[in-house]
Amino acid sequence: MKVKEINAKSVITKSQLPEADLVLNPYIGCQHACIYCYADFMKRFTNHSKEEWGSFVDVKVNALETINPKKIPKRSVVLLGSVTDPYQPLESRYQITKKCLERLLNCHVRVEILTKSSLILRDIDLLKKFKNLKVGMSVGILDSGLSRKLEPCASSPQQRLETLKRLHKEGINTYLFISPIFPKISKISELLELTKDYVGEVMFENINIRPNNKRRILKFIQENKPSLIDFYERLSKNQEYWDSLEKEIIQECKDKRIKYKIFFHHRKNG
Ligand code: SF4
Repeated sequence: MKVKEINAKSVITKSQLPEADLVLNPYIGCQHACIYCYADFMKRFTNHSKEEWGSFVDVKVNALETINPKKIPKRSVVLLGSVTDPYQPLESRYQITKKCLERLLNCHVRVEILTKSSLILRDIDLLKKFKNLKVGMSVGILDSGLSRKLEPCASSPQQRLETLKRLHKEGINTYLFISPIFPKISKISELLELTKDYVGEVMFENINIRPNNKRRILKFIQENKPSLIDFYERLSKNQEYWDSLEKEIIQECKDKRIKYKIFFHHRKNG
């Protein structure tokens, strides 16, 4: 792992995501090294074009200096992080995310944190000081062996669910982000059943197969679920599958009275 300390121009930028006004990314790169990660487009903009995603992290050591509370509109939704995991292992040493949260505490914003790491429990006392803060955990696959291959350095799916349970117990708003959904592998009903007592909302996102991750995803399927390879090779054109899955999810959430949001952008899959 190549770790570099850098002085960044900013840690907060305008969001392109529907759920947030601003995004805060304390690091460039991500140690979790998920093979399906869509954020590796960042390599092009950050002088890492030739490196493998997951093999480098730039630490924005001057993050605090770049946050000017007066320039953050009140009541904005600030999401940590959109192209990195704010609680990747390096955060235990650098604490950049923690310091940024301390700075946001008096900014009258709504903070949302999305992670795959139980390291977030370290900051539980700080999180409890926020009004309207929400923490989401991404879990797309329950099988810990498969998860280890897909998301080699993230907390195990079981640890992530335990983390959500603990946060909920501490009075923090939680949501489960079932993402990415791996068709015929992700166990959606089981995930809903397991988490129904300790998440306030469930969000769903399909796997986004793009030219940059297609080879890695198909290799994973070939090695671990070879009977699904034909299905996955045609998945990006299989709109019917996603439409029908979407209907099933809506029905199940309604039946179980689960608050949900679906982010299926399969029409853009390539
Ligand atoms: S945790 Fe998120 S940002 Fe990090 S590699 Fe995985 S998908 Fe990408």
